[in-house]
Amino acid sequence: MLKNKVALVTGASRGIGRAIALTLAGYGAIVIINYCGSKEKAEEIVNQIKENGGTAIAYQADVADFEAVKTMFSDITKEYERIDILVNNAGITKDNLILKMSEEEFDAVINTNLKGVFNCLKQASRIMLKQKEGRIINISSISGVVGNPGQANYCAAKAGVIGITKSLAKELGSRGITVNAVAPGYINTDMTAVLKDDLKEKVTELIPLKRLGEVEDIAETVAFLASDKASYITGQTIQVDGGLGM
Ligand code: NAD
Repeated sequence: MLKNKVALVTGASRGIGRAIALTLAGYGAIVIINYCGSKEKAEEIVNQIKENGGTAIAYQADVADFEAVKTMFSDITKEYERIDILVNNAGITKDNLILKMSEEEFDAVINTNLKGVFNCLKQASRIMLKQKEGRIINISSISGVVGNPGQANYCAAKAGVIGITKSLAKELGSRGITVNAVAPGYINTDMTAVLKDDLKEKVTELIPLKRLGEVEDIAETVAFLASDKASYITGQTIQVDGGLGM
């Protein structure tokens, strides 16, 4: 489905990003595993993809750092000459109620979750406009659609991701580039592992499909949006949330 497509997945050393990287590679894409933390974990995924007959490399860059992102895209195009798929997945949380939320907590989340997306979009757009084709998938969150107490920073960033998705879909559509967002609900990852069991039970009760999502639920949606099968879909936010945010 994605044979020899060059795909960059940000924050791909664990969780949803890791699953997206493995899934895209499984469909034949050459995958660049962007990571900010553990090199070891990123290399593990590269090895797993190679063992399965695929192609991948790990690349360290903080998505919030404009210059580091610029260098990353320049290095990717030097090596592979193009970039077909960009998945903006890197994200963090720093939850607090508004009266307790520090300026640092607000800025950190906006810088990674929203400015990080802008930084990558700016570089990818330049390349994809020249190619006259490309697929961009931004990972938002249902929290960006419906809001969440204690997450003003995160929800603002994730709502911003939906806005930037729609804007770029309109800006880039005439040049064969689609831009969509995926908004996960509660997915079983390290990010949600911190939630207490009784809260998880309460949330599960509210989800029409009565389970938390799995990383593969998100990864397969991303792979579909990256494929030719989704060539007439742009500017959309697909909620993959078991029906929680409808
Ligand atoms: P996670 O914390 O397990 O993984 C996030 C990844 O992003 C990590 O590998 C981390 O190192 C990387 N990262 C963080 N800051 C970075 C930076 N500045 N530069 C590069 N990489 C960076 O989280 P996850 O649950 O896998 O979430 C992945 C994405 O999905 C995030 O954008 C998150 O907001 C979103 N999301 C997750 C859920 C959920 O329930 N897990 C729900 C909705 C949305």
